[in-house]
Amino acid sequence: MASIEFVQVTQSFDKNVIIPNLNLTIEDGKFTVLVGPSGCGKTTLLRMIAGLDKQTSGEIRIGGTDVTRVAPGQRGVAMVFQNYAIYPTMSVRENIEFGLKNNKVAKEERTRLVESISETVGLRPFLDRKPSTLSGGQRQRVALARAMVKKPAVFLMDEPLSNLDAKLRVQMRIELIELHRKLGSTFVYVTHDQVEAMSMADKIVLMNHGQIQQEAAPEVIYRQPSNLFAAQFIGVPPMNIGDLGADGVRFGFRPEGAELSTDAADAHYSVRGTIATREMLGSETIYQVRSGPHAFMIKCTEDRFSVDQDVYVSVSDSNLYFFGADEGRIDRG
Ligand code: ATP
Repeated sequence: MASIEFVQVTQSFDKNVIIPNLNLTIEDGKFTVLVGPSGCGKTTLLRMIAGLDKQTSGEIRIGGTDVTRVAPGQRGVAMVFQNYAIYPTMSVRENIEFGLKNNKVAKEERTRLVESISETVGLRPFLDRKPSTLSGGQRQRVALARAMVKKPAVFLMDEPLSNLDAKLRVQMRIELIELHRKLGSTFVYVTHDQVEAMSMADKIVLMNHGQIQQEAAPEVIYRQPSNLFAAQFIGVPPMNIGDLGADGVRFGFRPEGAELSTDAADAHYSVRGTIATREMLGSETIYQVRSGPHAFMIKCTEDRFSVDQDVYVSVSDSNLYFFGADEGRIDRG
């Protein structure tokens, strides 16, 4: 069992409270993604799990055991960083083998492990190469293999794909999902990129200012965001928000949850506006529609409107959200 529990955990640096009071259970064997804006405390959480920083107060349990006094190397966790942390002078084989040599694993066992793990991550043909002769994605796989060789029950990953170009990132996302399926270990993955979070997570933990905003499966956060922050952080472009003018209540709808037409439609909510910008992305077009004080982003599968054209924006009842003055979503049952 390698579930991770934070029980009333706080973390402060130089009297600055970064994590005010965290209660969180990360389930065993799941792919959990910690996501949130820069500086919200994601890396701080990972470092506390790894034992690289000690929490100010509270308890962290791995597999049910309080690890507060357990050294990083004894926690059964491995961490993969953004900048790989691989040795440039060593071959791929030597890099992967390094931790095993340190742990005095016998030569035959080392060879067997290096070969089976390099097979899993697709590095078998590159074992005798130096990291400098590999692509960014291949280097990231070396970093993963180095972590895997220790057979950790928990993988901690801190923005491991952020140094890769967009195409490679998409490929590595798929590889990480497959790797998680093969290994069945607990993955805790930190990113500020909500697309990464949506595409990989079994569960997303959405944070802001050291506090959990919502903790749920990606589709649940997308369909039932618990508050205005969650509604606007998950989804691209973000949810459109408008003021209802009364008691601080706001309404929202997703760019893909509205329709444009030249005639008024029979929808719950319909307003007139003018197309201000048009962005053709291939399979879809994103229009910005100005309507009174509002500027709504609308995603359409058809590209049939032009800038300055007058249109109606229509949203059906089931695609409308409402948020109270406290910014929580109003549950309409
Ligand atoms: P990013 O996405 O930019 O990496 P993050 O969500 O991972 O951000 P953290 O690195 O956890 O954020 O940092 C959270 C806050 O804690 C920041 O304000 C940071 O300056 C502060 N912080 C982190 N580590 C320390 C430290 N060792 N000493 C002082 N302040 C720190």
